[in-house]
Amino acid sequence: MNDLLVKGAAHLWTGLRGAAMRSSIGADIRIRSGLITAIGTLAPEPGERVLDAAGCVVYPGWINTHHHLFQSLLKGIPAGINLALVPWLAAVPVPYRRFFDREEALRLAARVGLVELMLSGCTTVADHQYHYYPGMPFDASAAVFHEAERLGLRLVLCRGGQTVARAMSDGHAPPQAAPETLEGFMASIEADVRRFHDPSSFSMRRVVSAITTPNWSCRPEELKPMAREARRLGIRLHSHLSETHDYVRWAREVHDCTPMEFVERHEWVGPDVWFAHMVHLDDAELKRCAETGTGIAHCPQSNARLGSGIARIPEALALGVPVSLAVDGAASNEAADMASEAHACWLVHRARPGPFGGNAAAMTVEDVVHVGTAGGARVLGLDGTGTLEVGKAADLAVYDLDQPRHFGLHDPAIAPVASGGRPTLRALLVHGRIVVENDAIPGLDMAQLRRDAEAFVKLML
Ligand SMILES: [Zn+2]
Repeated sequence: MNDLLVKGAAHLWTGLRGAAMRSSIGADIRIRSGLITAIGTLAPEPGERVLDAAGCVVYPGWINTHHHLFQSLLKGIPAGINLALVPWLAAVPVPYRRFFDREEALRLAARVGLVELMLSGCTTVADHQYHYYPGMPFDASAAVFHEAERLGLRLVLCRGGQTVARAMSDGHAPPQAAPETLEGFMASIEADVRRFHDPSSFSMRRVVSAITTPNWSCRPEELKPMAREARRLGIRLHSHLSETHDYVRWAREVHDCTPMEFVERHEWVGPDVWFAHMVHLDDAELKRCAETGTGIAHCPQSNARLGSGIARIPEALALGVPVSLAVDGAASNEAADMASEAHACWLVHRARPGPFGGNAAAMTVEDVVHVGTAGGARVLGLDGTGTLEVGKAADLAVYDLDQPRHFGLHDPAIAPVASGGRPTLRALLVHGRIVVENDAIPGLDMAQLRRDAEAFVKLML
């Protein structure tokens, strides 16, 4: 691996909180064997490649902790564009699953989603891949890992699926949404762990046990065996929770408790568990998240798009809940990139009424960067990533502020979050390797990717 010096950036954000957020000792970064070995004002050393970052702003790579990559070819489907979660599920992801019964289709969707994320400065992706069913004709886990590896990204495969068929409004689901047995589901996760899981701090591949929802995708008595098996295997747990009022109503009506109480009864809380959304949490549930270290994948754009609500993230942060940022699937978030997500995160909490409402300091740019980088590393347990510090992996985005929207800024460091839009990348590095240079992915034929995506959309139509 090349010895590298990222030289001349105007600003460096570390991902840490408080005064340590902005580097005060200089913004040059020395990289050896994929790791940061020095930060400061540094002179080039013999044999070292210098990456010119003059005028740029350097952030840690974004860590996206909840996605459904297969949905990357299901953006803006008219039948679902104005629907709430449950009717939207019945109109978009469920019926369209039948188009993803070929490996090439899943691979193409994953490629589109990963490329979109990379160009927004994202270096780690947790894909909640739930497209599995009995007799599936290809290896979906290997396909997604392979696409991420080709592009050079870290991938956390959250192996979802269902052991109970979830009846949609028309009372039936396609064969691609048929349930697995609990034994089959768990055996497949164990096999994925054996094949792909690397528990190290700098891991490029992780596997997580991630039934699609604890409410509707399995029987309650199956949750405890799943949790225990995951802990025996040394992997994390992930799922959706409290995205809409339906979760709250279901827990109250069926189990006479809150959704957090329900998952806690079944041992699905702890620092090795994170849930997507968590929009509708009461005070006691927020407190329990903090006490147990249970994490949140905050998806402000998807929550707004589906009309689900605004998660209580400022309160969660104040209590010390592990909070991360995520795009959710592109079928409920037409631009599934981390730059848009960070911008939305910065804005929505300021607009929300309530104890922090009307408060322009409810969510600062510093909060957003911390949540989207260090926060993601924490919930995924990727200790070697998420901040720009000596000894950490060189996962970083070098943003070139070369668009009119950035001209005239008094504090250019905030531009990638506060200005909105997608800032162009001078470079994106994952473990010291340049995976984006001058806003392009070396070796990727973007025109071909567009043609392939258009052809697949035409086929579905
Ligand atoms: Zn989701």
